[in-house]
Amino acid sequence: MPEGDAHVTPDSALNRRSFLARSAAITAVPAATILAGGVLAQPAWADVLPDYAPIPPSALGPALNAQGYFVGRVRRNLYWVTDGTYQAAFLTTRDGVVLFDAPPTIGNNLQRAIDQIAASTRVSNRVTHIVYSHYHADHVGASSLFGRGVVRVGHVETKRLLARDNDAVPLPDVTFETRRTLRVGGERIDLAWHGANHSPDNIFIHLPDHDTLMLVDINLPGWAPYDSFNVNEDVPGSIAAAATAMSYRWRHFIGGHMGRLGTRDDMVVYQQYVSDLIDGVKEAVVAVDPTPFFTRYGNNSWAAVQTYQAAQLDYAAAPVIEKYTGVLAAVDVYTASTAFMLLESVRLDQGFGSQIHP
Ligand SMILES: [Zn+2]
Repeated sequence: MPEGDAHVTPDSALNRRSFLARSAAITAVPAATILAGGVLAQPAWADVLPDYAPIPPSALGPALNAQGYFVGRVRRNLYWVTDGTYQAAFLTTRDGVVLFDAPPTIGNNLQRAIDQIAASTRVSNRVTHIVYSHYHADHVGASSLFGRGVVRVGHVETKRLLARDNDAVPLPDVTFETRRTLRVGGERIDLAWHGANHSPDNIFIHLPDHDTLMLVDINLPGWAPYDSFNVNEDVPGSIAAAATAMSYRWRHFIGGHMGRLGTRDDMVVYQQYVSDLIDGVKEAVVAVDPTPFFTRYGNNSWAAVQTYQAAQLDYAAAPVIEKYTGVLAAVDVYTASTAFMLLESVRLDQGFGSQIHP
């Protein structure tokens, strides 16, 4: 299957149509209930939900098949699978398949995708290894589908956090602290931990012979970051991670999310977006006068701080939303939320704007 090969089958077109019809029926329900004097005292959501800018076509990937997934070649024997929101990858080798992440939303479609490729390229469809990008259940929660006879590989911190928080995901059998090169069936996979970023354990998965880097939950190609800068646990580490990613040699990027692969240009746009937002946040700290908020709310300190910060976030986000609308999808949905994480990092990590009482 060639790179970026999209399959629009009559089935998937039909699926989309019936999905749209179902959605229309669902949104019509509350209004109909209220008109009929129904007992549900809920607002008609369709009337109060905000409008957002259209998604740029550049953010979208290939159409999904009737089972709800797309599988495509990244390079040679490296493939990626998506359900439109989550991504996994796999490498077929002469000794079996190495799977990278197992998102539960893709679930049993992971093996279906592997079966499909294995049948068409006449290689084994048996998963022998699963590499975990990080411990979050939304990326590794389907690992148990592959049974006990699989070697699972992850960072030491991934093992510790899974053991602490999640008893449904099999723990890594092989762990490493900073670097580990896996060799399976003559193929090379370089794993590295460069410090905490999105999570304490998030690793870089580099396939030098496939010109590919997999780094999950940092840059979601074509899209603004998800809520709170991708539910960030270490903002300075996440910013550094994008720069570290660019220091690797690769052409193909697997970000773990949304419907398409990434390029180096996507990473440049992402870094510029974050940098513009940090500049905006720093300007807001200086430009927005806190006086009216504290005057208005008196001894309710939280009300004053909340409304003051909301004004700062709006100040920082508005020009960034305008600049990136049509460039990154959903900047109008989540930019203010990411700005909050950057504001707190600028304030708490860097001490920007901090003043010592005289
Ligand atoms: Zn995550």
